[in-house]
Amino acid sequence: MPAAASLFQPYLTEDHRGLQRDVEEVVAAAIAPLAPQMEARGPHTDREVRRIFSETGWLGLLISPEWGGTDAGHVAKTMVLAAISQVSPAAGAILQASILGAAPIVERGSEEMRRTWLPEIAAGRVWPTIAVTEPEMGSHVRGMTTTARRKGRGFVIEGEKDLIGNAGLGDVHCVVARTGKLHEPRSLTAFLVERHMPGLEVVHRPLNGLYGFSVDGLRLRQVHVPASHIIGEIGDGQDIALLSSVVWGRLNLAAVALGIHRSLYEAATRWVSTRPRYAGHLADLEPVRRRVAEMKHRLMTVKLAVYHAAFLLDQGQPCDAWLINSKLTAVRAGVRSAIDAQQLHGGHAGRIGTPCEQLKRDIDLINAPAGPEDLQLKFLGEQALGPVRPEWSVQHATRRGARRRAPAAAAAGPDPAS
Ligand SMILES: Cc1cc2nc3c(=O)[nH]c(=O)nc-3n(C[C@H](O)[C@H](O)[C@H](O)COP(=O)(O)OP(=O)(O)OC[C@H]3O[C@@H](n4cnc5c(N)ncnc54)[C@H](O)[C@@H]3O)c2cc1C
Repeated sequence: MPAAASLFQPYLTEDHRGLQRDVEEVVAAAIAPLAPQMEARGPHTDREVRRIFSETGWLGLLISPEWGGTDAGHVAKTMVLAAISQVSPAAGAILQASILGAAPIVERGSEEMRRTWLPEIAAGRVWPTIAVTEPEMGSHVRGMTTTARRKGRGFVIEGEKDLIGNAGLGDVHCVVARTGKLHEPRSLTAFLVERHMPGLEVVHRPLNGLYGFSVDGLRLRQVHVPASHIIGEIGDGQDIALLSSVVWGRLNLAAVALGIHRSLYEAATRWVSTRPRYAGHLADLEPVRRRVAEMKHRLMTVKLAVYHAAFLLDQGQPCDAWLINSKLTAVRAGVRSAIDAQQLHGGHAGRIGTPCEQLKRDIDLINAPAGPEDLQLKFLGEQALGPVRPEWSVQHATRRGARRRAPAAAAAGPDPAS
């Protein structure tokens, strides 16, 4: 068994030690041997990763013990996703997409819906996805065209979703669809659509990276869903999409980007330390040392930004801006370090299958999910200059009971630094 790495205190505490060991073991024994095969296969839906993670219980990291999960929290989840993504960004992306897929049920599902689905998800028997994006609409959620029309006691969904993480792997999809008119408030509603429901089809569309992670389309042709499959209330769809994306999605993707960044840093330092130059190695040259130092600086900044956001969320503090900042920082800095790693690898950076070539492809793909850079800046601009919006993190904390654990902080209102 590998020696456990030191804890990143104060964020990771002794309470995280057991989980950290479990993650290191699973990564070393199961993910590391699989990662090169996943990469070599190119675009595909990797079911072996699903099998491995189904046995760990990590889909339940944010599910209450009442429903079979561990509710270990966002710091714990960050540690897990970053450790996996360091070895296989695609495996990290697969796990994060279905942790995120559970968000609508956890946050807004009825008691009956939670009782039915969450124990199955926590046990890894059911993998959920969240399906909001459409071929012609991504960031502009309110503009979606997939419709859900009443029929009898249920609804009929018609439309198409695209770029859905784990679409080909998922057993149940949290589909957001239009139930009201275009410019009406509360015109979207979220539904659970089961894989076997007639009229649902997965449309495979390969991605140019994160091989093994499927990001496919979902075609919905007259899919009948019972009223029991409405998540929350009619009209809650936009809130559910945003709450899931801001509170769960941004941090998940930031953790994946942190893992990729660590791997880039390792690849670059290994390369410059072993590549001969003059009487020594590339690592002896001042411009090379400076470039590596920039990478280290970025990596440290990202680690702080990501863990700090997760920590605030676990404490029940209002922290939307920190969550947005975590993803913005992690992706921007990761892409910049990927360019530095390419520079340090010279012409070898262009060889297909080298770590630096793969990691650049993978980190580029972390920009769009849960909102691309320009959208993160739009949200931060609103935080700075208005309009003021209620914090999604506060809604999450109220539901999770974290406010009870940190009443003073939660009652303090928005963080002035944000
Ligand atoms: C790997 C991966 C996984 C994904 N997983 C999921 C998933 O599980 N579920 C899901 O529903 N979706 C998922 N997505 C889709 C992702 O959420 C969308 O790609 C994202 O929301 C952006 O939408 P879009 O691609 O349609 O870009 P658009 O919304 O068309 O935006 C394109 C560009 O236009 C600019 N822009 C657009 N609107 C604004 C604005 N208001 N202000 C400033 N600039 C703007 C920005 O530069 C932006 O990058 C995933 C995508 C990827 C790549």
